[in-house]
Amino acid sequence: MGEMRETYDVVVLGTGAAGLSAALTAAALGGSVGLFEKAPTVGGTTAVSGGVAWIPAHERPDVPSPPTVDEALTYLRSLSNGTMDDALVEVFVRQAAPTIEFLEAHSPVRFSVAEGFPDYKPEHPGARPQGGRSFNPQPFDFSELGEWAARVTAFPQDFSNVGFDAETRARMWGDADGPAPGSDVRVTGAALVGALLRGLLDLGVEPRTGHRGVDLLRHGAEVTGVVLETGDGRIEVGARRAVVIASGGFEWDPELVKAFLRGPMDGPVSPPYNTGDGLRMAMRAGAGLGSMGHAWWVPVVQMPGDTYEGHPRSRSVRLERTRPRSIMVNRYGRRFCNEAADYNSLGGAFHYFDGVRFEFPNLPAWLVIDHRHLETYGFLGFGAGDELPGWLHRSADLTELAQRTGIDAEGLAGTIAAWNANVAAGHDPDFRRGASAYDGYWGDRSQPTVAEQTLGPIDEPPFYAVRISSGCLGTKGGPRTDVHGQVLDVDGRPITGLYAAGNAMAGPTGIAYGGAGGTIGPALVFGHRAAVHALGAAVGAAR
Ligand SMILES: Cc1cc2nc3c(=O)[nH]c(=O)nc-3n(C[C@H](O)[C@H](O)[C@H](O)COP(=O)(O)OP(=O)(O)OC[C@H]3O[C@@H](n4cnc5c(N)ncnc54)[C@H](O)[C@@H]3O)c2cc1C
Repeated sequence: MGEMRETYDVVVLGTGAAGLSAALTAAALGGSVGLFEKAPTVGGTTAVSGGVAWIPAHERPDVPSPPTVDEALTYLRSLSNGTMDDALVEVFVRQAAPTIEFLEAHSPVRFSVAEGFPDYKPEHPGARPQGGRSFNPQPFDFSELGEWAARVTAFPQDFSNVGFDAETRARMWGDADGPAPGSDVRVTGAALVGALLRGLLDLGVEPRTGHRGVDLLRHGAEVTGVVLETGDGRIEVGARRAVVIASGGFEWDPELVKAFLRGPMDGPVSPPYNTGDGLRMAMRAGAGLGSMGHAWWVPVVQMPGDTYEGHPRSRSVRLERTRPRSIMVNRYGRRFCNEAADYNSLGGAFHYFDGVRFEFPNLPAWLVIDHRHLETYGFLGFGAGDELPGWLHRSADLTELAQRTGIDAEGLAGTIAAWNANVAAGHDPDFRRGASAYDGYWGDRSQPTVAEQTLGPIDEPPFYAVRISSGCLGTKGGPRTDVHGQVLDVDGRPITGLYAAGNAMAGPTGIAYGGAGGTIGPALVFGHRAAVHALGAAVGAAR
């Protein structure tokens, strides 16, 4: 074993939303903090994300009739289907707004409410079709980070930064002007990470990259530190009050994925460092587990040869399946979902299992568009005049498209005839696409009605198809915690000194994904609460 080189009040593993929130809180409350990150850069999935935080109840002055605690609880319960941890969800709902205030008070991070961003199930009781719960981090100037500006995780800024095309990025600027020429102002998750990191640096905490937590140090049943793998071998770091596991999910570990997830998951969209190290450490310490079958599901496209740091990349597909003149079909040529629904809900559609044929009929699926779609909106970075790669199948007619892809030709022809007739009638009786306030949000906003923003015939050849499968933004399962973020053992007793937050913890919301920011919101809250509890601090958010 390595030598004990240093000891802190609080040791945090991981520098995503959960880890930064925990570390910033601990430092702001006067604790000494060791912040360790496995990757060569900081920020994790959070840094490449939209950075939106879902704050279900608050009293921000810029929102007319701000959402209440009761409304939020009613809404989340309506999505739970028995999978939520009620106690944790209640704490999240009540403490989200105070947590945001705390982070704003102790760092340059600032949030503004994303105007008109509907909740993901806006017609459920307690939901907000008019938006008001999704908070954008305001743009942050990376020139304030000095040498750390180059040390924040980023995907290459190509055509679609995992779904962040030019239109999406423009919306993320909110009311702010776009970047001034030559400036280094960032939006989305980069802005969130950058601003929290600035706050930490100001409080004297420097993250240590290339430090991978691999094991916990224990004295009896109590956790007293961690073992870290570094470029210079293993070291031991002591923790007087807490080790906070904020090391993300296990989506990049195929064995854990196979062992736990409830259905196929072909490609994570996150950076490739979340391999369940925290889960393994917690299991060794006797943690009870929860939410292990669930993930933040997302439909993905995979392009041959598309890699990030040597790992195959998967890219989320959102605008392409929401805008008019685009549908998804399975290998039988049948539609199987409302393509414009929120990405997480589509996980269930992909995981439908046909017990007669004994197969997942909707995996893989195919996204089919016509030429007008390509001409009007572009598709996965390609325009109408571009040379198309082989994986984006192009055919003069539907029969040829079926031959190229292996989709059943008769099924495809029948589905598209029925779809075109329904679109002409202005509705989708099969899956009610265009009936929810959410369905138009990422559709063609130049159209006047939600239905027209997302419904359109597929009738102008040539036709195109791309293979779609089931991916995730991250997994949701991990060690169960109490309302303070303290890890519980298999008998439900707190393990002294051990906390978990973010995607590393047993996700409190079960299968639910309330609205944009539904993962970063709880990650910020439970990271914060872990630090508050560990230091025994009497701040408002500790209650
Ligand atoms: C393209 C995209 C867009 C998204 N948009 C949004 C959005 O707008 N709103 C939202 O709520 N969610 C969004 N998500 C999901 C969201 O980003 C994640 O669920 C969330 O950021 C997870 O935060 P976290 O802190 O738990 O984990 P992460 O941000 O993944 O951080 C975990 C960190 O731990 C590090 N780590 C792993 N193992 C170890 C170890 N052994 N020791 C030390 N460090 C370790 C990792 O390298 C990583 O830096 C998006 C995801 C993607 C991919």
